[in-house]
This record gives sequence, C-alpha cells and structure tokens, in this order.
Amino acid sequence: MLTSARQLPAVSNGRTQPSDFKEEVAAVRQYRNKLEADKNYQAAMALAMEQARAAGHLIECGCCFDEFPFERMVQCDQGDLFCESCLKRCVSRGDGKRSGQPF
Ligand SMILES: [Zn+2]
Repeated sequence: MLTSARQLPAVSNGRTQPSDFKEEVAAVRQYRNKLEADKNYQAAMALAMEQARAAGHLIECGCCFDEFPFERMVQCDQGDLFCESCLKRCVSRGDGKRSGQPF
C-alpha cells in the first residue's frame, strides 16, 4: 500500500495530463455507476412486471391503455394513473401547461 501520492512524470508530448487523467477516471466511474444503476432499475422493473402479471395486478395506463405494474405508474393530482412513457411524452410536448391537467 502506498503511503503517499505517487509522483507522476511530466508530460510534454500532448498526452493526458495527470489532472485530466483523474477527471477522466472520475467520469468513467460515474458512467459505470450510472450503467449499473440503469441495469438494476431495468431488472427491478422486469421483476415487478413479472410479479404483477402473475398476481393479476397490472394497471392500465389512462393514456395509452397498456398495462404496467404499479411501480411504473405516476399519478396526476386528479388521481388518474399514467405510465412513465406517457408522462415523459406529456412533459416533452408541454401538454397540460394551460389546463393544469396532464392529458
Ligand atoms: Zn401510457
């Protein structure tokens, strides 16, 4: 185990500087953590879908009428349930800005 920071040789040929390298390592770690989180989220959602389907607890989206487990639904202030895709589409289009309703 190192007891002090390693001294890196000076770089003068345009290659990565030590500070750039540290930033690059941090960015790669952050990217890998996001990939792992995305993978875990997808696995959790697949399991939730499988369990809800087996139990007969799928919920119909109020917009696209597809069925999803509760974990994939969002609720508007009127109590209606919508899937994540419909919510994202609604937000990207700016739907509901004037009426206060999501759809
Ligand atoms: Zn939907």
